[in-house]
Amino acid sequence: MRVRWRTTTWILAFASLAVSSAAAAQDLPQTVPERTDFQRTSTTEEVGRFLDGLVAAGAPITVSEIGRTAEGRPILFAVASDPPVTSPREVARSGKLVVYLQANIHGGEVEGKEAVQQLLRELAGPRRGLLEKLVILVAPVYNADGNDAFGPVENHRPEQDGPPLVGLRPDGLQLDLNRDYLKAEAPETRTSLARVYDTWDPAVMMDLHTTDGTLHGYVLTYSPPLNPNGPPGPTAFAQDTMLPAVREAMQRKHGWAIFPYGNVRNPLEPEAWTTYSPLAWYGTNYVGMRGRIGILSEAYSHADFPTRVAATHDFVVEVLEYAAGHADAIRRIVREADRQTTLEGRGDVERPELAIGFEPASRGVEPVVLRRMRAAGQTPSGRRRLEPAEGYDTHQLPVYDRFVATRTAVLPGGYFLPPAEGGTAALLRRHGIEVKRLVAPWTGDAGIMEIDSLSWAENPFQGHHLLSVEGTWTADRVTLPAGSYYVSTAQPLGRLVFELLEPGGYGLARWNVFDRLLGTEEGALSGLVYGSRPVRAFPLWRVDRDPAAVFRTLAPAPER
Ligand SMILES: [Zn+2]
Repeated sequence: MRVRWRTTTWILAFASLAVSSAAAAQDLPQTVPERTDFQRTSTTEEVGRFLDGLVAAGAPITVSEIGRTAEGRPILFAVASDPPVTSPREVARSGKLVVYLQANIHGGEVEGKEAVQQLLRELAGPRRGLLEKLVILVAPVYNADGNDAFGPVENHRPEQDGPPLVGLRPDGLQLDLNRDYLKAEAPETRTSLARVYDTWDPAVMMDLHTTDGTLHGYVLTYSPPLNPNGPPGPTAFAQDTMLPAVREAMQRKHGWAIFPYGNVRNPLEPEAWTTYSPLAWYGTNYVGMRGRIGILSEAYSHADFPTRVAATHDFVVEVLEYAAGHADAIRRIVREADRQTTLEGRGDVERPELAIGFEPASRGVEPVVLRRMRAAGQTPSGRRRLEPAEGYDTHQLPVYDRFVATRTAVLPGGYFLPPAEGGTAALLRRHGIEVKRLVAPWTGDAGIMEIDSLSWAENPFQGHHLLSVEGTWTADRVTLPAGSYYVSTAQPLGRLVFELLEPGGYGLARWNVFDRLLGTEEGALSGLVYGSRPVRAFPLWRVDRDPAAVFRTLAPAPER
């Protein structure tokens, strides 16, 4: 059965009329799906040509490359602004809000890439008014290596309804870019941290995906940042005010039914609708940790390709319309998040207890529309197989759309790192975090984590054996040598500092960044290591307040 996703079709006809009546519309380029009756999705090179075509036609955009992928492809970046801007400083002076649209982080999930090209074209015509309030940054093919690794959709995205050829999920280094935001190993992450987040500081970011989880009745599902450790203001605004308004506009103006992202465990007897992970390894959760508004968009795999492009396009448009209409409010909210986080780090207001363990929490019971399913025998391995039946059912389910802490630690005033941790310091600088170095030895009271256990995961994940650190914090008087690094939480990214450095959480320790300092090898002979003696204390110190010591501040990170 083909679902009729949209209750009205006249809006489509109206939209195309509006485009064709715009000045110079006939000179503007078409996307690859538009030219091929949605039989193909664009290569990176074709997206580049489309963007160049917009520039040639006088569209209000500038096109650049913010870096290169592992395989040498350009990471294309468009800045839409009217009048044009060449620096974030100009944007600040103009009073406009910066919004960043990122498409194709997972190579096979292609409709966001096509939708943002259409949007950029509309900014030359019927939607130019958005640029009175917004500067719109677009990375249309964020994962260019994954996008261009074309193969049959049946193999690359078995649950996805077209187009016939799509790319692969990981980047050229076989990394899932949507797990890379803290450790920043991929060239795409490294360049976007420096050249998008630290440079332009977008107030709103959208990450455009395709979901193939539970079969449900929504053309698109969405999520605000899910990590409860981020500054609460921006995420609460996105979750409780902005996204409900966008959901309502999608239904009223476009006839699309959308809902918070989620899945059910057992589709035959659904008990709860539950979202994904709160970890800041994911892009929109990471943006929330920075005190900005991150919005995940997940078009429904089982809707056909033209429908997914249209729904993603309309969702992006409605988010932009909302951001333009509430630009002053959003600017106030993110500025207040920065101020509040800095005060917390200084200890001028109560320090928050932040999560190092999480569990989902429900916003209440609501109607959730699910595809009707039936049992259909067993898989060869003896597992129960389900298949869709005719029709949809509305279930009253608790909607778990957020997380709360199961274990916490108080936000400290700052962390010291050993002088050898220059690599970690550079990574923190890349995130835009201020890092300082002791000019002379410092003696004072510090928290030391006595290690109770270190356990490395048996199976590798993203090339890592993830490390779980258990320990007990004690206070002692310590003397730290000159050259030790100091990272204060009294800065706008103070909560991100906690997320990256708190050893018991899901930050850099989990990704093996400190492994070299966790044991001394014994009896190494011709490369054969007989064993290692674990260190007693974790190689990092917490302090309650910024110490009175002489520091030098590190220079900004290089852009690449
Ligand atoms: Zn995805």
